[in-house]
Amino acid sequence: MHRTTERHHHGIEQLYRSLDSDDTDTAVSVIVKVRGETCDIDCLYCYEKRKETPGGARVSAAQIGRLAALFRGRPLAVEIHGGEPLTAGREHIAEILRELAALPKVVRVTLQTNGVLLDEDWLDLFEELCPTLQIGISLDGDAQGNAWRVGYDGKPVYPRVAQALNLLAERGRSVGVIAAVTPAVLGRAEAVLDHLAGFGSVNAVSFVPCFDTTIRRPTAATGRRAPASRLLQQAAVASDGGPAWAIHPDEYAENR
Ligand code: SF4
Repeated sequence: MHRTTERHHHGIEQLYRSLDSDDTDTAVSVIVKVRGETCDIDCLYCYEKRKETPGGARVSAAQIGRLAALFRGRPLAVEIHGGEPLTAGREHIAEILRELAALPKVVRVTLQTNGVLLDEDWLDLFEELCPTLQIGISLDGDAQGNAWRVGYDGKPVYPRVAQALNLLAERGRSVGVIAAVTPAVLGRAEAVLDHLAGFGSVNAVSFVPCFDTTIRRPTAATGRRAPASRLLQQAAVASDGGPAWAIHPDEYAENR
């Protein structure tokens, strides 16, 4: 037991070790949050939305170009992340991919997306500018498991993401899925895995614990009118952390 804990501790230290300025061979993992916390959907557990940061800014291609100098020519493994990176738009992402292709030592480019905007045009663009791009999709398993992943209208995004996974399969692309384990997933690992394995495009699934199932703090974004998704969240909190999917968006809409 003691040895296991020690090994675990050592593993964490290795994971968070500082960069060694003499080591110019080991690749550095760089996460580029192209749109900061900005996202086109409104998952009930989203920690991005509770950051006190202004939305809307974009990381520019010129800033990407500075990575080589910043890391003194070390190899780079770049992950394009969010919020939702595809909200930057096709032209902007194209500029970033061109810039990455021009950098001397980029060993890997990955993209983590909620998959909602992913369509034929995006896949054409990736094939043209970064054919080796590795795509990760955020999806909490089946429709039931995705109860916490909703649009600003409070409606499930699962059908749109399932469509994207089918499209990826048609185009012969493989993706990894990251699934947050909320109460809607907990205890259903087998069903969730079977469901995801049914998509021809899914070749890996990572389960990550959802620590934010009893969020007390609202989104930092302000607006004249609270979106339906936030009211679902408030309902979850009011029921003492109970399941947010206790209220169906249609039912909510009828009662407004
Ligand atoms: S996909 Fe969901 S969890 Fe990810 S940034 Fe958007 S709202 Fe947040």
